[in-house]
Amino acid sequence: MSHTRKARARAIQGGAAIEDIAASIDSCLLCGSCEPACPEGIGIKAMNIKQRRMLNMSRAGYPSWYPKIERTTAGANGRPLSRTIILLAGEHLRSDSEMISSVLEILGGNKKAALAEDDGRDIAAALEAGLPVTQDRIDNFIKPLSRARTLVVSEGLLHRPLMKWLPDSKVIGAGEALLSSASVRKTLGSEDLYVIESRSYHSDYKRLVGFYDRLRKETGCRMNLDLQRIAIPTGASSLQAKEDIEAAGCLEQAAWILKGRSVRRIVVEDLADREVFRRVTDVPVIHVGQLSQDN
Ligand code: SF4
Repeated sequence: MSHTRKARARAIQGGAAIEDIAASIDSCLLCGSCEPACPEGIGIKAMNIKQRRMLNMSRAGYPSWYPKIERTTAGANGRPLSRTIILLAGEHLRSDSEMISSVLEILGGNKKAALAEDDGRDIAAALEAGLPVTQDRIDNFIKPLSRARTLVVSEGLLHRPLMKWLPDSKVIGAGEALLSSASVRKTLGSEDLYVIESRSYHSDYKRLVGFYDRLRKETGCRMNLDLQRIAIPTGASSLQAKEDIEAAGCLEQAAWILKGRSVRRIVVEDLADREVFRRVTDVPVIHVGQLSQDN
């Protein structure tokens, strides 16, 4: 209970100092599931990041899972890319060149879609840890993206910042982008469990509830949604999980999502979830980008 958003608010209201609730602030995986459930709509994720930032100002050392602040990508020398769709692949997708080619093909081939050299993963990690990001770094990151009509962004934590930094571009997740293709959608069926990436979904919840509801009706697939249409996360894309997937509680979460369900295949939007589900079940687990190859 002490690790919930509500408990943190109550503790602060009751006079606790930010250091007193450090363990609770650090435990948040920024999945965003609490945001749509909040009746006040107070932007809980942003508040958690702010508390983490305040905590960082007063403590001597950081938790072991904090990122080292360094540029993790070379950047794209500031020239805007000239495609209408740009894919910001993120760490896991980026390391799978075959999957990248297949995703770009579904997005329209290389005349229409391009892969961003710089996917801003260092920015996402710094935001998650409540660490500063310089304006120069942000400018350098968004300049190559500035002409794109659609940004397909794997890292859910970057969705809201990108919507603010590039208001003329549409920012969507890899799952939504790939499922916009009828040939991908038609490969989903009632024996599939489709696992929505929680960070991007909750960043644009009101719009995406309708999108996934239509998908469920059209394909009959099951999803990791509760009765309020909140996505149950595994937490696999969090910094804590990158350090230790088990200690971050991801395996338990995945087992809970599967509890009482009988499915023949699991389709994940986030490649980090593929590893988690593969560790808790023998059911085949694939990425949404593999759907057209798997049928
Ligand atoms: S963002 Fe996720 S982990 Fe953090 S308080 Fe909300 S529900 Fe809990």
